[in-house]
Amino acid sequence: MHTAIYPGSFDPVTRGHLDIIARAARATDKLIVAVLNNGAKNSLFSVEERVKMLKEELEEIPNIEVRSFNGLLVEFAKQCDAHIVVRGLRAITDFEYELQMAQTNRILDHSIDTFFLTADLEYAYLSSSTVKEVARFGGDISAFVTPAVAERVMEKYTGVSK
Ligand code: ADP
Repeated sequence: MHTAIYPGSFDPVTRGHLDIIARAARATDKLIVAVLNNGAKNSLFSVEERVKMLKEELEEIPNIEVRSFNGLLVEFAKQCDAHIVVRGLRAITDFEYELQMAQTNRILDHSIDTFFLTADLEYAYLSSSTVKEVARFGGDISAFVTPAVAERVMEKYTGVSK
């Protein structure tokens, strides 16, 4: 059985992430979407909120599990018995960082391979930071995230919940 891990911040999950997740889930037996609990990073959503949003978005895909993790990805992968890490590549700017991470992980644990999926052209420009930047100034984020996520993001900025 091939178990893969798709790690990320998902702050918040975008349509680009969802596209990578759906494609990776089709290509593996089990996909663990792993939310990085990075205390040092200034995030809009707590890890619990990010896990909850992902679970809601992904409940219809049967071979997906959403979890959070701390610390080294290779250690978490070992715990999950996963040997594949999935990452998305949007542009050349992602490449250098992703290559470095993939090579570092392989030095730390030689049994781990990173599989890259290229972003769908429709979402190649999209990042969680863009979503937050647009939302912060009251812009329309419906092209970037699902309606449920958009509502949560707007709640954060306006303090109003529907
Ligand atoms: P971000 O870089 O937007 O903060 P994450 O840290 O959550 O996002 O990213 C997790 C992984 O998903 C990374 O490999 C990143 O390159 C990839 N990714 C992010 N946005 C997209 C997108 N729009 N299309 C494809 N892959 C993406």
